[in-house]
Order: sequence, then C-alpha cells, then structure tokens
Amino acid sequence: MTTGGGHGSRWLDRLRTLLRPGSTGRAVAIVALVAVTLLGSAYALGRSLIPDRPRHSAAGVTGDMDKAQYADQPPAEPSPSASESPSEAGQDGASRDAADDTLFGAHVTTGDARVALTFDDGPDPQYTPQVLAALREYGVRATFCVVGEMAQSHPDLIQAIVADGHTICNHSWNHDVTLGKRSTATIRADLLRTNEAIRAAAPDAPIVWYRQPGGAWTYPVVSVAHGLGMTPLHWDVDPADWEAPGAAKIASTVLGGVEPGSIVLMHDAGGNRQGTVDALYRILPTLTSRFQLEALPTDAT
Ligand SMILES: [Zn+2]
Repeated sequence: MTTGGGHGSRWLDRLRTLLRPGSTGRAVAIVALVAVTLLGSAYALGRSLIPDRPRHSAAGVTGDMDKAQYADQPPAEPSPSASESPSEAGQDGASRDAADDTLFGAHVTTGDARVALTFDDGPDPQYTPQVLAALREYGVRATFCVVGEMAQSHPDLIQAIVADGHTICNHSWNHDVTLGKRSTATIRADLLRTNEAIRAAAPDAPIVWYRQPGGAWTYPVVSVAHGLGMTPLHWDVDPADWEAPGAAKIASTVLGGVEPGSIVLMHDAGGNRQGTVDALYRILPTLTSRFQLEALPTDAT
C-alpha cells in the first residue's frame, strides 16, 4: 500500500478544501483558477499569431524551394484521362469524367467549348511580363491566379495583367497548401488579405475566382470562397510545368490534353519558368487554331 496518493492528490484535496463554500480561501482559489485559464488561452492565442514560415522565397529563386509543398498538385491519385503522355506529366488529379470527392465542386472545366489558360503563383517580375508578351502576340486572354504577397510586392504587374484584359484569380496570401485545414476565420482572413492586395493595385478588377494552393480543397475553403463571392477554380490539364520538364514536354502535354472546355494549369512564378514561356510559343499557334481561348469570365460563374 502507498501512503495515499502522493503530491498530486494532496494538492487536489487542498484545492477541494479551498473551493468548499464558506472557505475563506475559496475566492482566492477561483481567482487563481481563472488566471491560469486566461494564461493558457493567451499562450494558445500567441501561438496562433505566430506567422507561418513563408512557403517560398523571392520570385524566380529555385534553390531551396520545396516543390512538394509548393506545387499545385492535388492530393489525389493521378488521372490518366487528361494527358496522352505516358509518364509523370499526367498528374492533374482532376478527371472531367470522374466525380472527384476531393474537389468539393471546384470547376475543372469552363462549362462550354472555350478553353482557359491559367497561370499560377505570380506575379513574377521575370516571367510574368514574358507570359504577357506571348499572350499578347497571339491575342489570347487568360486568367492569372495570383499570390497575395506577390501581388503586394508587384502591383505594377497586377496592373499590367488587368490592362491586357486578363482576369484575376485569388490564389491565397502565401500559397499555404494546408490553408484548407485551418479555421474558417483564418481562411477568410487569408483570402480577404489577398483580395485587398490585388485591389490596392487594381481597384476595379473583379476577383470572382479562387484557386486553392496545391488543389488541396476542403469544404471550409470552398465555403469561405463562395461566401466571399469567389468560385473555386481547379483544372483538367496539368503539364506539371512547375517541375521544369522543358518546353517540349510542357507543350506536348498541353496539346495532347486540351479538349473543348479545358482549364489548363501553368505557372508564371515559383521557380525557373523559362520552359513555360518557351512552351507558350509552341502551344499558342496550335491552340488558337483549334479552340477559342478566353479568360475565365468575371460576370457570371
Ligand atoms: Zn500555386
């Protein structure tokens, strides 16, 4: 037999005595308990206010980028349908024929025959102007899914995108692929902060689309986006250009995968995107002859 419970038990007994009605120490004990509770809350709040480590460094820097975190690859199994390439290029995760439960209703096609090119993770001072120049040369308007902190750093590029008639899509503040698992308040603040950065550069630009980093959709993130007047935007053709497979590979995957209504995922930031830029000059002549390429609409979604 033990001698009876040890320190913890004796401490509890003392507390019970103090909490007993009429005890002179009762008020003191309650105050102490409240103080401990408040301290605990403050600690939790403090932790929640610690900003996330940025997911990527300065624009155009590839060295220490964690591609697995950064890339817009959904956590779904590869889909064989949207790419005719046999290898890793078919990692789009969003077959137009499959009812994919991981998408929570995010759009994977334009809804009509028009094809939409989308460029993610910018704007980037090195590559976004080159993408804009290519699109301008072929008279194509597209959609740019911009990251809030990049928009804040490069308002001139946001203005250039809008001035060329392209449409803007919110791609979160700092490309947090786990954003969808955070509280709705955190998600909402992230999306609002991003919209504010975009509007600071282009006050009149409609922002009616939201694309979740990594395609890692959750019900809360879809719900918050809808609540802020934005429609979740996914894709059905993914040339995995973030892996820098080279212009030829990017072009062949896009040209092999695009069908009427396709939404093509490409990147104008987040690493060396010269392959994407070069691929556009291979892609655009063919795509413009076969499809109507258009920016995603900003009036009705
Ligand atoms: Zn992205």
